[in-house]
Amino acid sequence: MTKSIIKTVQQEGRTLLTEVESKELLSKAGISVVETKLAKSKEEAISISEQLGFPVVLKIASPDIVHKSDVGGVKLGLKTVRQVGKAYEDMMKAMKQKSPQAKIDGVSVQKMARPGVEIIIGMSQDAQFGPVLMFGLGGIFVEILKDVSFRIVPLTKRDAREMIKEIKGYPLLEGYRGGEPVNIDYLEEMVLKVSDFVEQNPEIKELDLNPIFAYSDGAVAVDARIVLESAP
Ligand code: ADP
Ligand code: MG
Repeated sequence: MTKSIIKTVQQEGRTLLTEVESKELLSKAGISVVETKLAKSKEEAISISEQLGFPVVLKIASPDIVHKSDVGGVKLGLKTVRQVGKAYEDMMKAMKQKSPQAKIDGVSVQKMARPGVEIIIGMSQDAQFGPVLMFGLGGIFVEILKDVSFRIVPLTKRDAREMIKEIKGYPLLEGYRGGEPVNIDYLEEMVLKVSDFVEQNPEIKELDLNPIFAYSDGAVAVDARIVLESAP
């Protein structure tokens, strides 16, 4: 099944997997992602929302859009059928104005995850070392402070532990100033699962779980992006 999603994407001549495809692959690999479904119409978005339970999040689903929030393609905390309907319409309108040439699959509908400590796990290919995993805290920590750590795939348990502990923001994970301490063992497992996943799927060129919300009792990726090598 994992191979068949990757194959389909390659056959379509694409390298960028959608958020829905990326999360499906990760979920099959045992990596925790927020439950996400593709809706191809407003009516479908509403019925999936009712199925999942409110509040929900709607995001634009397009193989041509990488950064969804930059184009007004993420609507958080929708609490009612009405809000979902309006968010769908607003989003489609914004897409027509800002990215008229983008192919739109519909929207992804997902549960609104409760707030947690935002972290990132990423993978990129190094010319010398091959796949390398990155770990860091989300938001300004990675974008401005570049507070991240790296290890070469495949990682050992010890690599996973060390790469989490060595970031400067580590005290935030331990529950700095009354914040919720996060489950470090769970994050370690998650890092190892991503390492396994990458090792087993060499067609993957880049991967981004950004952000993952980390809690005292687990963690969940709310956004995911996978890029494949160009087909041979
Ligand atoms: P982008 O393509 O812009 O990276 P994201 O899917 O990461 O879009 O969404 C932008 C932000 O919205 C995230 O960084 C996160 O803070 C929030 N977010 C996204 N999905 C959820 C969700 N399911 N539950 C709660 N917050 C979310
Ligand atoms: Mg994101």
